[in-house]
Amino acid sequence: MKKARAKAENTICLGLDIGGSFVKYGVIDGEGSVLYSSRTATVLDNGAPGLVDILRNVISEMIDHCTSRGFQPQAIGIGSPGTVDPRSGKVTGESPNLPGWVEVELRAPFSGFGLPTAVDNDANCSAYAEFKFGAAVGTQTAIVITLGTGIGSGIIINRRLYHGSHYSGAELGHLSINSRGPRCGCGNRGCLETYASAGAILRRAARLVDFYPHSSLAQIDFSAQGDAPLAAVFRAAQEEDITATELLDTVADDLAIGLAGIINAFDPEVLVLGGGVVDAAPEFIKAVTRKTKRYTFKTKAKRPRIVPAQLGNRAGFIGAAALGADLAHGE
Ligand SMILES: [Zn+2]
Repeated sequence: MKKARAKAENTICLGLDIGGSFVKYGVIDGEGSVLYSSRTATVLDNGAPGLVDILRNVISEMIDHCTSRGFQPQAIGIGSPGTVDPRSGKVTGESPNLPGWVEVELRAPFSGFGLPTAVDNDANCSAYAEFKFGAAVGTQTAIVITLGTGIGSGIIINRRLYHGSHYSGAELGHLSINSRGPRCGCGNRGCLETYASAGAILRRAARLVDFYPHSSLAQIDFSAQGDAPLAAVFRAAQEEDITATELLDTVADDLAIGLAGIINAFDPEVLVLGGGVVDAAPEFIKAVTRKTKRYTFKTKAKRPRIVPAQLGNRAGFIGAAALGADLAHGE
């Protein structure tokens, strides 16, 4: 046990998380501590080869960081949007968040570094990070849902990521809760993502301003970048603006319908909620938990805990690095 622990602590891995706007990356030790991290813009102007070059430079930068401090990284992990085949290391399906990023090899181009390289979907990487080092540590079965611009999700069954038969499973944000609902980026209608992501909440709030111009929602600049508009929506509700309060109550209800279906299907030990929506208002989770209980299959058996994520927006590269570590250990 002691030896295994020493091995895990000494495993230094490089993690990369390719996002729609930024590639976030970091050097991680075997206990999930971030020893170094940075980010660079995701640029696809020169096509996929241009972005692969950026990733190569980022890996070199992290290796230089390690060697200058006298240690050697043992693996690389890369999280990417879209459908990712972890066996071949290839992006096989495009994500609406990164158009043109498909049929891209994400292992072969980096073979020159001589390190085992794990490749997986970005939401799966975030979920794995929460399982290894965050809110789902010690569980066997966990589901992690990230409410960001869209809704990302990952499923851990028996301590392993569940990918589905064709590596395109675990897309819980695209569970439709209304066949006549709004059109989603995936082409379907009424996906959970169109109701309860941060992006959906902002769209819904902006639309309400037309009907309720005296609501304090009307003061919000919905075109502003970053977390400010979402935080302002939650602040309006905290200050008892009736339109904002009712909106968030409806969002919590929509989300709860989706989560109850997920719980009925998987019955995980823990369901982790993360992303901008959760960070903006911890009390939102309480409302969602209460409503989810109401909609879940009635049973006297124990039900999953619903808990906030712990690793924030670094989860993607931390989880990618953890998958790299597994590969280095032959797991
Ligand atoms: Zn969808």
